[in-house]
Amino acid sequence: MKNINEIKADLHCHSNISDGELSPTKLVQRAYERGIELLALTDHDTIDGLIEAEQEAQKLGIKFVTGCEISALWWGKPIHFTALNFDSSHQGFIDLMQRQSDCRLQRAVTIGEKFAKMGIANMFEDAQNIAQGEVTRPHFAQILIERGIVKDQNQAFKKYLAQGKRAYANSSWCKMEEAIEIVHQAGGVICVAHPHRYELTNRKVRLLLEEFKKAGGDGVEVSNSTLSPDKQSLTVKWALEFGLLGSQGSDFHKELPWIDLGKNLHIPKELTPIWHNWGLK
Ligand code: AMP
Ligand code: MN
Ligand code: MN
Ligand code: MN
Repeated sequence: MKNINEIKADLHCHSNISDGELSPTKLVQRAYERGIELLALTDHDTIDGLIEAEQEAQKLGIKFVTGCEISALWWGKPIHFTALNFDSSHQGFIDLMQRQSDCRLQRAVTIGEKFAKMGIANMFEDAQNIAQGEVTRPHFAQILIERGIVKDQNQAFKKYLAQGKRAYANSSWCKMEEAIEIVHQAGGVICVAHPHRYELTNRKVRLLLEEFKKAGGDGVEVSNSTLSPDKQSLTVKWALEFGLLGSQGSDFHKELPWIDLGKNLHIPKELTPIWHNWGLK
């Protein structure tokens, strides 16, 4: 029997229900082509793509678990957490999704107002128009690109959309502790997503993981497509220190040479994977 860490799992990716390019069906088909055995779709603050994805996964014989990348505040700072393998019909979870969706809409309106003040009109309307589901900052980036205001998504964030830039708006996301509690009530587990992508010092990342564990959190992503080996071993060390489980996910949004579903994902054998008790063989 294969070691459980060796299962080809991708527990972090996006469809066009949030800021990904592919429909949930197409995303699952791509996962199948890449040999993924265990998949979660983790759109930003929405579970609207899960039914479609699960149907396709069933057809293709991929083990599918529910997922969602929740934006939540830790000391007032927005951090991303992947909720996995929860009951998506749980009322508390559905209520959380509604609250987050309201926050997102409100923030998008504010972003639109900020652009209008700079003389860039109708940004909210246009962004909302191209979004299949939730409006995300990459939708604003896409409109800026289409209008020829910036050349790519990176530039859109650097100039306008990143924290502290001219069109950045705060959002009253739920608190980390609330996210943990609600995911647990819905029978799921929750992980810190991409811990090295928040512009935090190593000390702060370690503190985030420590406080997350103390608040009842379950795991941390120790492997994604772009994590350096140094950062990966540091994260594994902290996971072992605090007793967090390991998760892995590509954070796939669209085709790029260096990111793909299931690509370069691995949890070292000394760390227990988040899926250890999901009945996989
Ligand atoms: P939102 O959830 O609407 O705040 O959008 C967050 C998403 O924007 C992330 O999941 C990334 O896909 C994308 N993103 C965040 N920061 C950057 C950045 N600096 N450059 C390009 N894309 C980014
Ligand atoms: Mn995203
Ligand atoms: Mn994220
Ligand atoms: Mn993501």
